[in-house]
Amino acid sequence: MSYLDNILFAIVLIVGFGYFISNIKKIYRNINLGIDVNRKDNSKQRWKNMALIALGQKKMFTRPIPALLHFMLYAAFVITQIELLEIFIDGLSGSHRFFKTGLGGFYTFLISFIEILSLLALIATVAFLSRRNLLKLPRLNKAELLGWPKKDANLILIMELILVICIFTMNGTDEVLYLLGKSHFEGTGSFNFAVSQHLGPAMFGGMNESTLHILERVGWWGHLLMVMAFLNYLYYSKHLHIVLAFPNTYFANLNPLGEFDNLASVTKEVKMMMYPNADPFAAPAAQEGEVPAKFGASDVQDLNWVQLLNAYTCTECGRCSSVCPANITGKKLSPRKIMMDTRDRMEEVGKNIDANKGVFVPDNKSLLNDYITPEELWACTSCNACVEECPVSISPLSIIMDMRRYLVMEQSAAPATLNAMMTNVENNGAPWPYNQQDRLNWKND
Ligand code: SF4
Ligand code: SF4
Repeated sequence: MSYLDNILFAIVLIVGFGYFISNIKKIYRNINLGIDVNRKDNSKQRWKNMALIALGQKKMFTRPIPALLHFMLYAAFVITQIELLEIFIDGLSGSHRFFKTGLGGFYTFLISFIEILSLLALIATVAFLSRRNLLKLPRLNKAELLGWPKKDANLILIMELILVICIFTMNGTDEVLYLLGKSHFEGTGSFNFAVSQHLGPAMFGGMNESTLHILERVGWWGHLLMVMAFLNYLYYSKHLHIVLAFPNTYFANLNPLGEFDNLASVTKEVKMMMYPNADPFAAPAAQEGEVPAKFGASDVQDLNWVQLLNAYTCTECGRCSSVCPANITGKKLSPRKIMMDTRDRMEEVGKNIDANKGVFVPDNKSLLNDYITPEELWACTSCNACVEECPVSISPLSIIMDMRRYLVMEQSAAPATLNAMMTNVENNGAPWPYNQQDRLNWKND
């Protein structure tokens, strides 16, 4: 490798990581648009959840075949980074297969392991592409996935394919060069890597030395550039879950699924009503100019930061929508779309802030109505099936409930049937339109 190559390599790394870090900062800023919520309790349980759900992919295995395919891709992605580390060292220092001399037989085992996983990843990628585009699996071809989300899913799979092809081109041509004693790694013989020791001679045997060197460099640079492209593409893709699944499962709600959080201000008022002797002025008076807290959520800034983290983590897999009783029975609601809409609106607000020197300028738009309609919100049965099913512990229901809260408590815009029920609760202490004394009249009939 010449100095020019080293310099070019360093530039690629600086630009690639620099752009990635600037995007990470944007994601962090956008998530912090949300209101605060305390998720620092029970850290032992949280670490356990993260290890089982994000690292161990526990919830994926309710559907074994896609889970296995996904695991192949995931394992290949994680283990391949070891070879990438070697590429970084080789690229900066000008060495070739830096770890081989020091690790000896273990290096052969390691690269063989990577090659086998890469081969499995290749099979998984082809299966996933076929499932989406040939078999047209219903949950992967719903209305909310038309356009960019579908292209995004295909694009990332194609990038995976290219990455695996680069790995085998690099190792296969280097195997042939090493057999000829012409590899940049000193000596001659076979590297004995599990796949490329067969694939190399079969595909590249007979080529002349300069072609082999060019192809080896194409594979080497291709590997690096694909990883850098992948890293920077993450920000624009649903594949952020590769990183965010870890914090998302850690900070997930640990309360029982059916338990909803109460609004502190409402709880305080109810307590006042229940204890009439309580001092009504015990609560601190509002500061001058203080804006009263909004009930519920109409836009992303009214949601909490974990809900916004949820939106960035959503893999768009559609498992939630495929078990949603409202969606299955043809209602407009899709919990996946709730998460996608939240993310899209968050991105829109983030761009507004970027364009206005760090300040959000009202744009006469909101998550409610412009992205998510009341019809979708009221179709939810609050059954929690979507939350149960989500492989990365996302709760579309919590967003739905906060937006419903806004509709009811800020806009009095609940459906008529619900209003009647709430009036009954208020007047009769029960959802039925009877006086409390008349409740047992049925037994006299
Ligand atoms: S909680 Fe609502 S959105 Fe989730 S599955 Fe049930 S009906 Fe669908
Ligand atoms: S919310 Fe969960 S289950 Fe639903 S699409 Fe997103 S990742 Fe999949």
